Amino acid sequence: MTYDVVLIGSGFGALSAAALLVKRGLQVCVLEQAKYPGGCASSYLRKGYIFETGATTLVGLDEHMPLRYLLDELGLQVPVRQLEVPMQVHLPDGQLLTRYQSLDEWIQEAERVFGKHQQREFWEQCYRISRQVWQVSLQQKSFPFSNLQDLWQAARQVRPGQLRLLPVAFQTVEQLLQKHGLLQNKLFVDFVNEQLLITAQNYMPEVNVLFGATALCYTLFGNYYLDGGLINLVNPLVDYITAHGSSVLYRQTVRQVLPETSGYRIWTNTSSFRSRYVISGIPLNNTQQIFKDEKVQATLQPYLLKSDKLNSAFTMGLVLQGRPLPEVLHHQVHVPEGLPLINSKSVFVSFSHPEDKRRAPEQETVVSVSTHIHDPASHIIHDKKVLENAIIRLLTDKGLITEEQILYRQSATPGAWLFWTAREFGMVGGYPQYSRIKPWHMKDARLDHKGAYLCGDTVYPGQGIPGTCLSGILAAHKLLQDHF
Ligand SMILES: Cc1cc2nc3c(=O)[nH]c(=O)nc-3n(C[C@H](O)[C@H](O)[C@H](O)COP(=O)(O)OP(=O)(O)OC[C@H]3O[C@@H](n4cnc5c(N)ncnc54)[C@H](O)[C@@H]3O)c2cc1C
Repeated sequence: MTYDVVLIGSGFGALSAAALLVKRGLQVCVLEQAKYPGGCASSYLRKGYIFETGATTLVGLDEHMPLRYLLDELGLQVPVRQLEVPMQVHLPDGQLLTRYQSLDEWIQEAERVFGKHQQREFWEQCYRISRQVWQVSLQQKSFPFSNLQDLWQAARQVRPGQLRLLPVAFQTVEQLLQKHGLLQNKLFVDFVNEQLLITAQNYMPEVNVLFGATALCYTLFGNYYLDGGLINLVNPLVDYITAHGSSVLYRQTVRQVLPETSGYRIWTNTSSFRSRYVISGIPLNNTQQIFKDEKVQATLQPYLLKSDKLNSAFTMGLVLQGRPLPEVLHHQVHVPEGLPLINSKSVFVSFSHPEDKRRAPEQETVVSVSTHIHDPASHIIHDKKVLENAIIRLLTDKGLITEEQILYRQSATPGAWLFWTAREFGMVGGYPQYSRIKPWHMKDARLDHKGAYLCGDTVYPGQGIPGTCLSGILAAHKLLQDHF
């Protein structure tokens, strides 16, 4: 059978694109190497509990944001709980900082902890930019431009205020702090750096203000929790695709994609498929390995980042018995002395909702812990227990858990990420922000300017579920614009 579109991988980017193409009446087939969908934003059952694979925080469901757009386009509703307080941060000096959703409440909290100097001005500016960024990203679906039609479309979509965003693409977050006289405030600098790391995957000298403001302000938008885990954000997309007569196939590892006279031949570990168009939803590094075509190889080469510019993660799943537990579900804990073996300076901790009986029974809680591992190819972890023990000590010191509460624990290194997602080096979280890579330097959705396209967290606009969702929206948009 020849499909209209074959999509490689069932990550959130590819599923977003697939569902939008299905809505337009196309016959699609999603090929996934794992036995369940969702990639880094999914959930799995082990020992009777539901653990998250990677992502735990969920934003993007508010007006003018990608997930809202996607669900509205598809007519889908997802039963989310909105979190009253998005996050707490355990700072290196021992203070506990609460990231309130209301801008005013947050500024008061930031002033309490970091001092009054320029906090209001800094956060008001960042919030204004982040709101504009989300709005413009859905208005300008042809960005980054890669043909004349994109430019024509962009010109037609120009709205007042869009061009005001341009200068901040040239400014780093470090320069913004300097402008506000905040670079001498070490506590604030450390806070901003570790917050940027979880969203923009890099520190302030490398992150431009366009992405940085958006990353720093994600707690000022609606933050949501899904009972039963993030698989319940993924499954409605899979159900939508299959209910419309298209397919999502598992244990299908795409090994090679070859152009043919009228489309593509896609070879997997067990079969081969034909399609008119193809969308790769796997990282650029992996895409280059399966598209052997010389032109494609040359196109991708300038965009590829190697291990020393990438991050993987050390992740832990815990099951806790009994109470008390923190009221706020998400915590970032700073580790100024660095974790052993990997020297990571912060740990992210997410608790399952106490009323979520699908992930754990009454009085039990599933906890997801993750921390960055920079340059995963150079950090082979031989003894996971050293890291597990250090993290548990840290969480008990901060009063987040007690050792007696732990019923079960497991952990995963970059090797496990490589195995689960097949992402080169086990890299996760997308391509980090780098100051030399402006938004318009990022790879856009067109791969060969024929019928092959890209989405996922290594192409524009990058990291996180909302970013990958937007990349899928853009890939579907460009494919439809080019061929229908
Ligand atoms: C520990 C961790 C914590 C995170 N926390 C958050 C968070 O709190 N909030 C947030 O928004 N984001 C978070 N993220 C980031 C977010 O999860 C990812 O950026 C996003 O889910 C990536 O989606 P994707 O579609 O780009 O790719 P992926 O999710 O990687 O999907 C790619 C899919 O392709 C499959 N695949 C790979 N190679 C092949 C092949 N050759 N053939 C067939 N299939 C293949 C993989 O199995 C995978 O399912 C986190 C990520 C991690 C790892």
